[in-house]
Amino acid sequence: MAVIHFERWHQKARFHNPLKGGILDTQDIEVRLDPLTGHQSMYSSALEGKTSILFPETDYDYLSRRAEETRAQCFMCDGRWNSTTPRYSDALLPGGRLVKGETVLFPNLFPLAAYHAVVMLGESHRRLLNEFTPSLVRDAFCSSVEFFRRCYESDSTMRYFTLNANFLLPAGASVIHPHFQIIGSPFPATHQRLLLEKSLAYYEDKGSCYWIDLVESERALKNRCIARTGDLEWLAAFSPLGVNEIDAVWLNATHLLEWTEDDFTHLADGLCRVLRAYHDMKFSTFNFAVFSGPTHRSSPEFRCVMRLVNRQNMVNHHRTDDYYFQKLLKNEIIVNPPEQLAEFVRGYF
Ligand SMILES: [Zn+2]
Repeated sequence: MAVIHFERWHQKARFHNPLKGGILDTQDIEVRLDPLTGHQSMYSSALEGKTSILFPETDYDYLSRRAEETRAQCFMCDGRWNSTTPRYSDALLPGGRLVKGETVLFPNLFPLAAYHAVVMLGESHRRLLNEFTPSLVRDAFCSSVEFFRRCYESDSTMRYFTLNANFLLPAGASVIHPHFQIIGSPFPATHQRLLLEKSLAYYEDKGSCYWIDLVESERALKNRCIARTGDLEWLAAFSPLGVNEIDAVWLNATHLLEWTEDDFTHLADGLCRVLRAYHDMKFSTFNFAVFSGPTHRSSPEFRCVMRLVNRQNMVNHHRTDDYYFQKLLKNEIIVNPPEQLAEFVRGYF
């Protein structure tokens, strides 16, 4: 194993600050680099305790109102998915949809890949982050991977899968009703490809798997580790791609079709724990993506990894949290230092 080096440096910004009576103020900005990809994120100590400037607290009355206004037209509510959602061919999926417990998997009406499905996450139209249950989430993950298995078995060029979610409108969801979005393609997604290529380069250089080295290095440092549940390690990202990023790294599975029954259980349980922590931090939205290696072989250089982030909160006329700094410069602002975030979320495991 190789020890991962977590690189960071500091910059000083100086200006006459009207908030401090016009004195020449110096602010310290910490820059962090992701050890694998080099992705930059910045933490300004001047923003400490000022989360609400960037992320105003959730307006729960507004959230309830929006849910009530959209419930009657929701194509998933009250069993309407039965008549309104598309179906796959019986050859791919007998019956056209995959129903498991309260979850229903069906094709996206406007797919962005050869296989792009939606998984309805329960019958409830509105769900707060502390209302996701492990059994519900587990059913959705199981159906998703069952669907991927069928896709791969029917077409072996379908090797690249991601399992994703947009939760609530500020996170990009077009409907309030909770759902996952899962994608199967002959090509990896841009970030998936970056992770796979960088992991392979690391493996060829160091002779070990970056993700295992990352987990071991983080466990030695302790301060960003949250918990190990079965074969999943839960960490706060050193240089996050989004606000409050929590990652799960599989110690054994290199692609989704290698997941065990225990992996599903620990994934669903851990995700619900993190969502409860987010809820108690007054955040109300999230995105996640689970990245898989290619399914036609086991990849010793890679492990499945989930990235889970908050997005802008559910407030009226919300401002996006994805502006030039993230969208075009591909940097991110650290709102809560990952070490403090890990300490908080650890209390939920
Ligand atoms: Zn609904």
